[in-house]
Amino acid sequence: MAVKDLCLAGIADSSTLDYIGKVSAVIYLCGCPYRCPWCQNPDLVEKIEGVCKTLSIDSIISALKEDYLIGAVSITGGEPLMQPAVIDLLRELKKETQLCLKIDTNGCYPERLKQALPYLDFFSMDVKAPLDERYGNAIGLPDKWEEAVKNVKKCLDLLKGWDKPKEARTTIIPGLTDKNEEIAAIAGSIKDVGFDYYTLQQFRSGATLDPKYNKAKIPAPALMKELGRAAKEIMPDTIVKIVTQQKGFEEIRL
Ligand code: SF4
Repeated sequence: MAVKDLCLAGIADSSTLDYIGKVSAVIYLCGCPYRCPWCQNPDLVEKIEGVCKTLSIDSIISALKEDYLIGAVSITGGEPLMQPAVIDLLRELKKETQLCLKIDTNGCYPERLKQALPYLDFFSMDVKAPLDERYGNAIGLPDKWEEAVKNVKKCLDLLKGWDKPKEARTTIIPGLTDKNEEIAAIAGSIKDVGFDYYTLQQFRSGATLDPKYNKAKIPAPALMKELGRAAKEIMPDTIVKIVTQQKGFEEIRL
């Protein structure tokens, strides 16, 4: 792989769900340093041959320039900041297009995030669990929870000084993050960062990284609402949303 290549699973060309208020292309980058047992993108995480391929930054930008419908690009994964060349992609896109740029990250690369922020117009970060040893279980690396939490905290500190729209996200996982106390602990850790949005995503069963979660129970919409209210009580100035298969996006109001 050349320095200016990226390993990706593909580019979706017109999402209305990934960038609030704009139609966006979505680039799915492969690879991730975490092993969340409930991960719903195992092929990207494991860089499965036939799913992931290598493309030059130039060819990615050419494809995006030909898509006249989009106003934004969302870069997701896997973990997009794992590949250093993503910074080159952001820089070139900013130079060559008028597209708004967003990245979804799991918060494990604070130094690369610092390099990325000047090019971004919108930012979304996972906060997967309360910022203590429970983080290790959520990311499938129980022995590495301290390092993971340290990196998340560094990212949160960087975001405090960044004044463009930003979102925090937590997936509600049965047995890991489906209690009021857990969501309240996360909300308490991020409330001073100034997030515009905090989104609670409903876990989906299906092909997960650890087969144990393939058939795990999907959190009920009523539970999602209850957890959303627990977050909103702590973050009254943030737009708190839940997203469920049953009802799509819903804003939580007290
Ligand atoms: S859910 Fe976890 S393992 Fe899957 S891509 Fe996100 S951070 Fe990586």
